[in-house]
Parts: sequence; C-alpha cells; structure tokens
Amino acid sequence: MSAIKMDGKALSAKVRSKILEETQSLKAQGIVPGLAVILVGDDPASEIYVRNKEKACTECGFYSEKHVLPASATEQELIALIHTLNESPKINGILCQLPLPAQISEDAVIAAIDPHKDVDAFHPANVGRIMIGDFDFLPCTPAGVMELLDEYQIDPKGKKCVVIGRSNIVGKPMAMLLLHRHGTVTICHSRTIDLPKVCAEADILVAAVGKAGFVTPDMVKEGAVVIDVGINRNAEGKVCGDVAPEVMEKASYMTPVPGGAGPMTITMLMKNTLKAARLQH
Ligand code: NAD
Repeated sequence: MSAIKMDGKALSAKVRSKILEETQSLKAQGIVPGLAVILVGDDPASEIYVRNKEKACTECGFYSEKHVLPASATEQELIALIHTLNESPKINGILCQLPLPAQISEDAVIAAIDPHKDVDAFHPANVGRIMIGDFDFLPCTPAGVMELLDEYQIDPKGKKCVVIGRSNIVGKPMAMLLLHRHGTVTICHSRTIDLPKVCAEADILVAAVGKAGFVTPDMVKEGAVVIDVGINRNAEGKVCGDVAPEVMEKASYMTPVPGGAGPMTITMLMKNTLKAARLQH
C-alpha cells in the first residue's frame, strides 16, 4: 500500500481563489484587507517566507506593506513600528517574522501587537481564546492541517491523535485544535519515554519536530494518517520533512514536503487577514 498524498498546494489554490472572491465583494463595499509583514535582519529562510507571504497577498487581492529593519534594530524600534501599524487604518493584520535577533524579546513583540490584528494568533489573549474554544483567529499551521484533514474527510473524532512537538507555534495549538474536534490527543516531546511506542498507537500522527527523517516506519501504525509539518534540509540540501519517505508505504494518507502542510500555513494567514478586515469594519 502507498499512502494517498494530501495535496496542500491544490487545496491552497482552491482556498485562495475563494478568498479572492470574498476580497472582491469586500472591495465593492470599500474595504481592502491589508497585511503588514515585518522582517528584522537578513535571515535567508525568513526572506523567502516573507516573499511568499507578499505573493499570497497579491493573489488574494490584499493591500500589503513590507517593513524591513536591520539585524541591529532594538526592541524599542520594533515595538514603535508595531504601535504605528496598530493605529494604521490601512492595516488589518500584522505579522512579525520569527525568529528575531537575540537582543529582541519575541514575547514582548508578540504582546505589543493589537490582538485584533494578530493574524498569527500568537498573542496571549488569542492563545487563551484558542484554549477555551472561542476564537477569531486560528494559529496558521495547525489550522492548515485541520483544513487538509477536512478536505480528505478525515475526522479526528474519537481517534488517537499523537502530536510530536510542543512548541507554542505548532505543537501545542495543533493538539488543542484536534482536541476541539474530539480527538484523544497525546503530545510527545524530547523527554517522552518510549516515543516510538506512543507514536505507533496513533490513528493520526502529526510530526512537528524539526528533524529530517525523525519518524520512521516502525513508529507508524499500518493505515495511519501522517501529517508532516517539518521543514528541514537533508544532507544533500534538499527540503524535506520530519517523516522518512518509507512511511508512505505504511500510512493511508500522508502530507508531502514540500507541498503539504507548508502552503496551507500561508493560506490560513490570508484567511485570518480577511477575517480581521471584516471584524474591524
Ligand atoms: P521548535 O524547535 O520550537 O519545537 C520542536 C519541538 O520538537 C519541541 O517541542 C521539542 O520538544 C520537540 N523535539 C525536539 N527533539 C525531539 C526529540 N528528539 N524527540 C521528541 N520531540 C522532540 O519547532 P517548531 O517551530 O514547532 O517547528 C517544528 C518544525 O515545523 C520545524 O521543522 C519547522 O521548520 C516546521 N514548521 C513548519 C511550518 C509550516 O508552515 N509547515 C510552520 C512552522 C514550523
């Protein structure tokens, strides 16, 4: 058996064209969704992410602004820019590309963003709302995974769901969204005892570790759904996920890397920006 590939690129294109339609109807009412993207420093991976976000804005008919600060920028300078964007009527969503240089506290920057414009859903107020299940913005990567599951009619209800990774950006909110959909959720991390055994019980396995080839076939139940969130580079410098390619032979559904969870993340950012524009008017 070889797993069905869950095509995040195709689903992304479908969702983006729907967003464009909705943007056009908003524009008819004089509303143009606006996203500000802030980049601090010149990390090449961050530059690519920011470029892709700008491209997605164009595809969805949004207004976008890119603000680039030098790697030497201070926390005060960055927070001052965020305050200006918080007040800007043209901007509905603000995204500060992470990671930030060491002299800037990510927590302080996230807390400075107006929660109504926090389209990444990283602000503590939005994280809390996700926890209680009453939210406006969903965290982009986990939300993209949920849309992929829905597209392929995979219902987490009652299923054993295992998430590897407990970051605030991916692992924790991923677990929470699966829980909201009635999955029986286990979070694994670097100190989990006998992690392969826990993973091998999963009906739905989500890998968000950041280690190429971390999930091997022995860690996967026959017929499991495997979602690979990882974005890594292998020894040849090629982009790859956290899941070894041989897992394809054991899983029933699997997301490829690239082309699976990755494209959905940016699309969910667009969805949040559209929602922010609606809520702010
Ligand atoms: P992170 O480094 O913040 O978290 C990694 C998590 O993996 C940690 O919670 C840690 O406990 C766990 N971990 C590390 N080593 C482990 C081990 N040996 N055994 C078990 N668990 C272990 O990373 P992150 O920001 O959550 O990102 C995870 C991966 O997802 C990265 O490859 C990142 O590039 C990717 N990512 C992809 C998208 C996307 O759009 N698809 C978005 C964000 C992150």
